[in-house]
Amino acid sequence: MRITFLGAVGTVTGSKFLVEHGGSRVLVDCGLFQGFKQLRLRNWARLPFEPARLDAVVLTHAHLDHSGYLPLLVREGFAGPVYASEATCALAEILLPDSGHLQEEEAEYANRHGFSKHHPALPLYTLADAERSLKALQMLPWHHAEQVAKGIKVTLHPAGHILGAAMVEISAGGVTLLCSGDLGRPHDPIMVPPERIARADYLLVESTYGDRRHPPEDTAKVLAEIIRRTTARHGITLIPSFAVGRTQSLMYYLYRLKQSGAIPADLPVFLNSPMATDATELYHRFRREHRLTPAECEGMCRVAHIVRTVEESKSLNERHEPAIIISASGMATGGRVLHHLKAFAPYARNTILFSGFQAGGTRGAAIVGGTESVRIHGEEVPIRAEVVMLENLSAHADAGEILAWLDGFESAPRHTFVVHGEPVAADTLRRRIATELRWPCSVPEHGMTQQLD
Ligand SMILES: [Zn+2]
Repeated sequence: MRITFLGAVGTVTGSKFLVEHGGSRVLVDCGLFQGFKQLRLRNWARLPFEPARLDAVVLTHAHLDHSGYLPLLVREGFAGPVYASEATCALAEILLPDSGHLQEEEAEYANRHGFSKHHPALPLYTLADAERSLKALQMLPWHHAEQVAKGIKVTLHPAGHILGAAMVEISAGGVTLLCSGDLGRPHDPIMVPPERIARADYLLVESTYGDRRHPPEDTAKVLAEIIRRTTARHGITLIPSFAVGRTQSLMYYLYRLKQSGAIPADLPVFLNSPMATDATELYHRFRREHRLTPAECEGMCRVAHIVRTVEESKSLNERHEPAIIISASGMATGGRVLHHLKAFAPYARNTILFSGFQAGGTRGAAIVGGTESVRIHGEEVPIRAEVVMLENLSAHADAGEILAWLDGFESAPRHTFVVHGEPVAADTLRRRIATELRWPCSVPEHGMTQQLD
């Protein structure tokens, strides 16, 4: 077996690992690059293999940095199956069309307002491309070894993180390779912990928070304080949030805070993301994949007023009374949240609350880093609102939690590749694995091929 690292090295985005054995080829994850321009440009570059000669794709989960390149892969000639857990299939059916729609909308907006350097600006792919790619999805049950290509078997193990998230175990030629995907947290209030794995010959482990420890503070208390002081200033709490995972955690916390009286029960909460609403409903359908009771699930779903139309979305920007607005995208790279940032970021009474990892090069990373302004739709927008980063809402294990999970292995893998992290995070985790566990490990380079025997 051999592996080629085609994404998620030196970055948390663009996850793509090509696994080959004999004449068979399987791609684990098919994600979009996001953030720095030189990374985003990779989405437009040709793949180093012929999509038509790929036998299958296996997805760890539905987040776009793991699945969002699929419509392009299919358009470029890939005609095989895309294996994923049932919840990942259901989420992909929501996320991929939305991604296609968003790409078209952004290209159209750029052309209408003439701020793109490209004439005309083209979408990376369209809604139709995304819908076509969904036909390739094939549901794979948990813990079932499926032959996905000649000589290659794949088994999915629950990874926590978000609904449907899986670790992918690949076996070929008597060798096993485990790809961790995004690892969830052991004590997440909503998601189950990542499954313990006893052994693998080779391991790919994510390192998003490889150099960090999530603060031990009480998330609910911190969130309540932020909302209360913003409300006291008559401000809006604007929360850019990933539609799947983070948004539901936030809604769950808001539901609990309202119930306990920590924030006013009548403080309006708007969920300005129709897609997030559809994703939230899946928590009812996939009860066994999370820890919420049916009543909690119901409470979480009902805490927010759903904004569906563009008109309603626009009218939120005229609001003068305190409210909480949750809107995608989570790193402020696109979506309706951009319009809210234009309206609310210039005023000190408001708060911009970030709730997840901000990849380098995104507007989110710039705002968290203290920038005085960001460019949105060709316009410089000053940031005078309070900016808060609430790391504890993360759906990713921190460094200590990753090491604790690795410690569950009965024997060390022959080699561990540290992936899915920005350079400092990946290297910090590599050093800790080498010194604390004494496992052979390395951080691979983009495009590198490694023989696994
Ligand atoms: Zn993820």
